Order: sequence, then C-alpha cells, then structure tokens
Amino acid sequence: MTDTPGTTRRPRTPTPYGVTGHQVANNIGRLRKRRGLSVYALSDLVHRLGRQVSPDAVSKIEHCKRQVTVDDLSALAAALDVEPQYLLSPPPPCEACKGAPHPGFTCNTCGVSA
Ligand SMILES: [Zn+2]
Repeated sequence: MTDTPGTTRRPRTPTPYGVTGHQVANNIGRLRKRRGLSVYALSDLVHRLGRQVSPDAVSKIEHCKRQVTVDDLSALAAALDVEPQYLLSPPPPCEACKGAPHPGFTCNTCGVSA
C-alpha cells in the first residue's frame, strides 16, 4: 500500500505520520518487547490504567497503522513505566553497541548493522 502525501485515502488516519509519530510507534514496540510483554499483556496493563487500547490497536500503533491520542500515549507510557516524553524522543543509543556495532556485524541487542 502506498500513501501519497496530502491525500486522505484512509479516513481514520487523515494526518500523515511525521518523525515523532514514527518514533512513538518504534518506541512502544521496542519497549514492549524489552519488557517481555505481548500486545495482549500491554493492552491489559493499559486497561487497568483506565484506557481502552485493544491488542489489535497496540499492534496497529506499533506498525504506524493507527495514530495515538495523547490520552493513549500517557496510558501506554505509564504501562511501559516511562515518561510520555520518552516515547516522543529518539531512542537512546544501544547500551550494548552504543549505536555502532563492529564493521560487518549486527548487534544482537538492537539489531543495528554496521
Ligand atoms: Zn546495539
């Protein structure tokens, strides 16, 4: 599927993703996996915080198929035990490789290839 900037092909996502939107999606997926949570477990944690974000919605959010409201962002951050600002920011350099694995290698922790 290709999206042309400026068009509203899918009514539910009228605003194109920007840098921050992609970072939020990536951060949620990365943190969820680091916590060892399934999309079901994260959805359940968010539900306990008083928000409704279905497992399907969590998956869509992570794959940039669904944008996040500020209320959902706050609840997702709390469920992942980080500040909302953390989800909006670029990920910190990988602690294992510092974002720069040895030439020709792929970091087992963050997946970055040199
Ligand atoms: Zn790494």
